[in-house]
Formats: sequence, C-alpha cells, structure tokens
Amino acid sequence: MLADLNYEEILDYAKKIGLPAFRGEQVFDAIYSGKTLEEISNLPKAIKEIIKEYYPNYKITRRYESKDGTRKYIIEYDDKNIVECVLMKYKYGFTLCVSTQVGCRMGCKFCASTLHGLARNLSAGEILGQVLLVNRDLGGSRKNRQITNLVLMGSGEPLDNFDNVVKFIELISSGRGLNISQRNISLSTCGLVPGIYKLLEKDFNITLTISLHATTDEERAKIMPVAKAYSIEEIIKACKDYCQKTGRRVYFEYTLIKGVNDSHEDVKRLSKLFKGFNCHVNVIPLNTVKERTLQGTSRLEAYKFVDDLKSQGISATVRRTMGEDIEGACGQLRNKILKEN
Ligand code: SAH
Repeated sequence: MLADLNYEEILDYAKKIGLPAFRGEQVFDAIYSGKTLEEISNLPKAIKEIIKEYYPNYKITRRYESKDGTRKYIIEYDDKNIVECVLMKYKYGFTLCVSTQVGCRMGCKFCASTLHGLARNLSAGEILGQVLLVNRDLGGSRKNRQITNLVLMGSGEPLDNFDNVVKFIELISSGRGLNISQRNISLSTCGLVPGIYKLLEKDFNITLTISLHATTDEERAKIMPVAKAYSIEEIIKACKDYCQKTGRRVYFEYTLIKGVNDSHEDVKRLSKLFKGFNCHVNVIPLNTVKERTLQGTSRLEAYKFVDDLKSQGISATVRRTMGEDIEGACGQLRNKILKEN
C-alpha cells in the first residue's frame, strides 16, 4: 500500500512504473491530502488505473461528536476491519489518539480493546491514514496541518507492532509528510521492556508513557497479564534508561480502580518506586466498561489520591476525562459496532 512508503519510496515507485517525477510528487500529495483517488483531479485516468490497487482505501465510516467537542472516528480499512481514533481539542490545538492494532492481545482486565483479542496489526500507512483522514475532516491539508499532537493510546499495544509503529513515527514526523514534531508524540505501552530498549535505540524524541495501574507485581498481574512477564522494577529501570538516553521525562498512567489500587498504601509504594526519578503520574478514574466488572474510583477520591501523591513529592495530576458520552475509552465503540453487526 502506497501510504506505507515514504516520500523517496513513492517517487521510486512512480519511476518504476514509468511515470515522470512530477507525477510521483502528485501521487505523494494525493495520499497526504487524505482524499480518495476519485477525488484527485490532477491525475489522468490511465495513471489512476495503474495505481488504484496500491492507493490507500481507508475511509471514515462514522463520526461522533461529544458535548465537550471531542470527536470519535471509526476508520474502515480495505479488509473491512475497523479501528477508532479520538480527537481532543485543547487550548494549544488538536490532539489525535490513534490505534496501532485492530484489537489487542495484552488482555488487561479493565480494557475494552482486548475483549476480542488481536485481529491483526495495522501497517504504518494504516496508522498514518487515521491522521490523514482526520486532518482532512478538520479542513486541513499537508501544508495546513490541523493536528498538533499525537498519542499512540488507542486500541492496540504499540510495542507489540514495533516495526510498523516505528515506520509510522518516521513518516508522520518527516518534513516531507505532515511534519508533526516528535516532541509532540507520546507512545503508551503496558510495559514491554525489550520493546522499550528497542525504542531507545531509535533515538526518537517522543515521550514514553507507561500504563502502570498497580504498585506491586502481584496486584498488577491480577489486572494486567503482561505483569507476569516483566516486573515493575524492570519497567522503571528501562524508563530511567530511556530518560537518561533521550533526556525526556517519562509519564505514567495510573487508572484508579475502586478498592483495587487506590489506597494510601498504594501512594506510599508509588512514592517509593519513583523516589529520585523525575517522572509524572497521570491519574485517571477508570472508565467503566460494560463488559467488565471493575469500577472506577470517584473523581473526588482521585483528587485526594493525587494530593496524597504530591505530598509525597511525586508530580501528579488528574487527567481530564473527555468524550464520555460517546464511549471515549479505548475499544468501547468498536465493540459496540461489532455487536450491532
Ligand atoms: N497498549 C497501550 C496503549 C493503549 S491503552 C498501553 O497499555 O498503554 C491507553 C491507555 O488507556 C492505557 O493507559 C490503558 O491502560 C488505559 N485504559 C484502557 N481501558 C481503560 C478504561 N476502561 N478506563 C481508563 N483507562 C483505560
């Protein structure tokens, strides 16, 4: 698929099928406009016929808007697989949350994305497509980009689809592409330690975010099966190495689950784990998933938890919840649609 290729590779492809260089440029521009091939006016029919097979065929099939302005999009791929991505409006601009896999195989007990397991990985171009389509939906173009920030926090585990995610980061941050600064990109992982080290080798300037959600390996393993493979200690060591190598502060996501991980003892353990480590904790009350039994801690309790963390010297904030009325949390909407069909 052509969206998997970078600028030079697309020009090479055009050359190989016998097109002059300016046609290669046009094909590149067409892809980055987020338009379908039919909508492209400056390519002759004969050329469209040749490239049709490889031209991206993804599209937005549904679009929901929340009262708070958050938008959720359903993107459908060639093979009819669907993923969701979420657009959030902040003071500084739009942040898009993209999915990296169709489904997920990590099995976290509170998450909707993993309910049906992993269907397949997304290719680099398929992840890119989410950004191109939403940018276009906002009236943007390659040269007039509307999206300022990206978070790889939709469905899927990015480090479980390593090569495609790396290529996507290269494509999206390229000056030839949408030119989104790596500093404005966050990658969230449940803690695949070897993946963190592989990422560190890439010398990207992206922010690393860890979904921690528990303060002991025993408790973590009850809600996140991945905890059986990698200990909290190993994860934090990898984060310290990441921070040292890249100079970038590491973030931790901590989803508060009522009666599971929200006690003062948890605060004490967190402060011990993070002692001397300049990181930041994002506290999020669990978004209750219909199919799951776990309940979220109240917002009021979440603020208390954060105050408690701060009093222990840990930098922490309660994450704003957005788009709750449109099933904003990962994978919720896809599940609903899968059920309807
Ligand atoms: N697999 C990656 C990225 C996708 S999940 C990861 O684990 O980080 C993005 C974030 O949403 C993670 O922190 C995840 O734990 C959290 N999350 C999943 N389901 C949630 C829910 N129901 N309520 C609140 N946060 C949730």
